[in-house]
Amino acid sequence: MKSLKVSTRQRAEFVDITSQVQEVISRAGMKQGICQVYVPHTTAGVTINENADPDVVRDMIATLEKLVPQSGSYRHAEGNSDAHIKASMMGFSVTVPVEQGRLALGTWQGIYFCEFDGPRGRQVTVTLIPAA
Ligand code: ZN
Repeated sequence: MKSLKVSTRQRAEFVDITSQVQEVISRAGMKQGICQVYVPHTTAGVTINENADPDVVRDMIATLEKLVPQSGSYRHAEGNSDAHIKASMMGFSVTVPVEQGRLALGTWQGIYFCEFDGPRGRQVTVTLIPAA
């Protein structure tokens, strides 16, 4: 298990962490298996989506904001209920197959850390499970 650090600069921001995750696999020398990426936070998540056109990520953030606005009739006193909800919508882990030492992602896929209550210093945990 390896911890990565992610620094976010905005309240809501998707950070492409694909190359950092690939680096963990390359350093470990794992050729085939499963890579799990886990986010140990309650107001940030992780997802996989298109990394070719940055407008896709912008549209996702804008749509999440429309669905779950920052201010609303929430009870949670911390004032960041929208961030908790959006984080659960994205989820807290993704698993990706590893083939020939590389993340076996689709051509247009990237792994995104999803910040919803930044800017902050965050952590991402990468666990590698080699194929038997
Ligand atoms: Zn909270």
